[in-house]
Amino acid sequence: MKKHFDVGIIGGGIIGQSIAYHLAKEGVSVLVLESHKIGTGATSAAAGMLGANSELENNDAFFQFAKESQRSYHILRDELSELSNINIQLVDNGMYKLAMTETEAESLKAVVKKHETVEWHPKEVVLEREPTLSSLIKGALYIPEDGHVSPTHVCAAFSKSASLLGATILEHTPVHSITKTATNEYELSTPVTDFICNHVVVANGVWSGYFFKQLGINAGMKPVKGECLSVKSNEINLERTIFYDHCYIVPKGDGRFVIGATMVEDDWNIVPTIGGIQSLIDKIKPIMPSISSAQLIDTWAGLRPQSDDGRPYIGQHPEGEKIYFATGHYRNGILLAPRTGMMVRDLILNKQQNEDYMNAFSLTRKHAQTMR
Ligand SMILES: Cc1cc2nc3c(=O)[nH]c(=O)nc-3n(C[C@H](O)[C@H](O)[C@H](O)COP(=O)(O)OP(=O)(O)OC[C@H]3O[C@@H](n4cnc5c(N)ncnc54)[C@H](O)[C@@H]3O)c2cc1C
Repeated sequence: MKKHFDVGIIGGGIIGQSIAYHLAKEGVSVLVLESHKIGTGATSAAAGMLGANSELENNDAFFQFAKESQRSYHILRDELSELSNINIQLVDNGMYKLAMTETEAESLKAVVKKHETVEWHPKEVVLEREPTLSSLIKGALYIPEDGHVSPTHVCAAFSKSASLLGATILEHTPVHSITKTATNEYELSTPVTDFICNHVVVANGVWSGYFFKQLGINAGMKPVKGECLSVKSNEINLERTIFYDHCYIVPKGDGRFVIGATMVEDDWNIVPTIGGIQSLIDKIKPIMPSISSAQLIDTWAGLRPQSDDGRPYIGQHPEGEKIYFATGHYRNGILLAPRTGMMVRDLILNKQQNEDYMNAFSLTRKHAQTMR
C-alpha cells in the first residue's frame, strides 16, 4: 500500500527544509524527498550572507519580504537551537561595502539618503575597525543589519527540527514525476516507491525546470554557477563582511574566510575553474593585500537557481492545482528561506496572505504563464 502524506516536498535544500519545518510546526504530515543528501545543492555552496540591504536596491515588496526574512533569523536561532541543538551560527556584525574611488564613494553616500539603516563611514573609521583592509580605500557604506549564517547548519537545523516534529525526510530518493490520481491527490514517483500526497511543493532549486515542463508551466529556470574559496590566515583580522565589486569576504566563526563568488551563466558544471578562482583573488588583493599569504583551505562551486526576472517563484499552480512552487531564489535563497517557508505554509493552510508578495512572486507575473 502506498504511503499517504498531506504535503510532499520535492527537494531537500534550505527552501524545502524551511517549508517542511514551518508546516511540521503546525502539525501537518510532511514528506520531503531529496535526490541526494539534504543540503548538498546550492545551499552547501552559499556564503550565507543575509544581504537584504546590500543585494536589493528598490524599496519594494521583494525588499520588504527579504527584510522580514532577515529578521526571522533572530527568532529562528533560538527556536531551532532549542529543538535541534544545532547552532545556525548567526553573526550580526554587519557588512562594509567599500569605495575605492571618489566616484564609488559618492554613489554609496547617496544610498545613505535613501535607507535609514545604513551609514557612511570615512576611511579612518573603517581602517580603525578593520585594519587588515588596504589604506587605499576611500571609505565604506556600513550596513549593520546584513549579517550571515552557516547555510548548511540552518538547513540541518530545519531538517532535524522538522523531523523531530514528525516530518518524514528521505534522502537518495529522486522524484521522477507528479501525477494526479482519480481521487484528486498527487502521486510522487521515485525509483524506490510511490507516495500519495494531498499537496505537492516543487522546491528543487535549479532543477525545478524539469517539473515546470512536466506540469506545463511556462517559466524559466537557469543555472548561474558561483565559485568560491576559503582561506585561513593569522594576518587577516576581520570582524565584518567586506563587499566590493560583486565580490565578498565573509569571516566565519570557525576562523575561515569565505571569498566569493563568480557568476557564470548557463553552466551546469559544479567543478570550480582555475580562471574563476583566480578572478576572485585578483579582485580581493587590492582591497586586502594580505590575502596573498593566506592558506588556501578549499574551493567549490554551486548553481544559483535563476528565474526569468531574477525573483523567486513562490505561489500556487496557475490553474488552481494543489501544487505549489518555491524556487528560483537565485543569489538570496539563504536570506529568503525563513519567509518563503512561512509563505508556502500559509498558502497550503489557506491563511491570509500579503497581496503584494503574492503578486511579486506569482508564476503568472510577466514571464511566467501556463503553456496549455
Ligand atoms: C556560490 C554561491 C554563493 C551563494 N551565496 C549566498 C549568500 O551568501 N546568501 C544567500 O542568501 N544566498 C546565497 N546563494 C544562493 C543560495 O545558495 C540559493 O538561492 C539557495 O541555496 C537555493 O536553495 P534551494 O533549496 O532552492 O536549492 P538547493 O539548495 O539547490 O536544493 C535543491 C535540492 O533539490 C534536490 N533535487 C533536485 N531534483 C530533485 C528531484 N527530482 N527529486 C528530489 N530532489 C531533487 C537537489 O539534490 C537539491 O538538494 C549562493 C549560491 C551560490 C552558488
